[in-house]
Amino acid sequence: MKNLLLPISFLLFSWLHAQEHSHGGATALTYPDIEGYITLKTDLHMHSVFSDGNVWPTIRVMEALREDLDAISLTEHLEYQPHKDDIPHPDRNRAYRLALEEAREHDLLIVPGSEITRSEPIGHSNAVFITDANHLLHDSPEDAFRAAKEQAAFVFWNHPAWYEQSPTGNPILSDFQKERIKNGELHGIEVINTHDYAEESLALALENDLTIMGTSDVHGLIDWDYTEKGNHRPVTLVFAKEKSLESLREALFDGRTVAVFNELLVGKSDFLEPLLRASIEVVTASYIEDTQVLEVVLKNNCSSDLLFENQMQYTFYTKAPIFEIGAGETSTLRIKTLERLSSVDLRLKALGAYTAPKQHPVVSWKIRVE
Ligand SMILES: [Zn+2]
Ligand SMILES: [Zn+2]
Repeated sequence: MKNLLLPISFLLFSWLHAQEHSHGGATALTYPDIEGYITLKTDLHMHSVFSDGNVWPTIRVMEALREDLDAISLTEHLEYQPHKDDIPHPDRNRAYRLALEEAREHDLLIVPGSEITRSEPIGHSNAVFITDANHLLHDSPEDAFRAAKEQAAFVFWNHPAWYEQSPTGNPILSDFQKERIKNGELHGIEVINTHDYAEESLALALENDLTIMGTSDVHGLIDWDYTEKGNHRPVTLVFAKEKSLESLREALFDGRTVAVFNELLVGKSDFLEPLLRASIEVVTASYIEDTQVLEVVLKNNCSSDLLFENQMQYTFYTKAPIFEIGAGETSTLRIKTLERLSSVDLRLKALGAYTAPKQHPVVSWKIRVE
């Protein structure tokens, strides 16, 4: 019996392990590619026990795979190491290497990164695409940023609106940051961090030509902090020429991003409008028999619920001018075109999307009537 049981239990173990290794999850994020670029779903700000996070780095990889992300970065605080007596790690690249090893057989890019951590007015900044985290450890923050630049890192300002560092809950662009921008040492800014979207940070991004970022900054579990509460983690959608570290890096420096948190989308119109256009598919368009009422079925193919306001000269039948199409859902518009047309320009304002503070993009779809 023992001899028989052994191979069976071995097979069972192998099967369980294979199942486990698919990292399947019900919360996969979907956003379509846009013309000329593929859309990479990234979260470039998170922590593990190698700084003040509560999980081993491999968990971050498994969480990302469950959500079908394309790239993550474990950005441990360089200067804040509350677990270092329990987990000594003289090599500050350790979390990155553990994540890289876990991701080896998966299609997930691991970006080497670190969080340069100071009190205000310098604040926190992430340096990603670094070559060696150990060389970012400096007493003076100027030296830390200089070292990041020497490594050709992409550097972004974290949670600029964090009330523990800025009690008004508004970002304050300090002389330190102005100097870093001028020196080409600061390239991006989080407009969404954790649950907070700061339109003042978006204004700073646009004024200073900084790349718009959204990140989870997760310390606990994604499931507990986001999914269980009915949220997706914030992500940065990056529009890259291909799925590779080099293309991702190039796109970040070029500012090709949209920050997303649930139904909130924030980005430059050059990227946000094509993203919204690609997210809505026109399924069918035909006139109701013997009427001038055009029935259009739309499908939302992205993971954000999309809220729209009608911007056409034509009004709707049996629908308010403001309506929502849930993620993955379809919605029917009945457009009163007054005469029978062979094509219509559907024009909608995306009320959950921002291209600047208080400014929504208007998106058009050319609809051909069947
Ligand atoms: Zn921070
Ligand atoms: Zn952080």
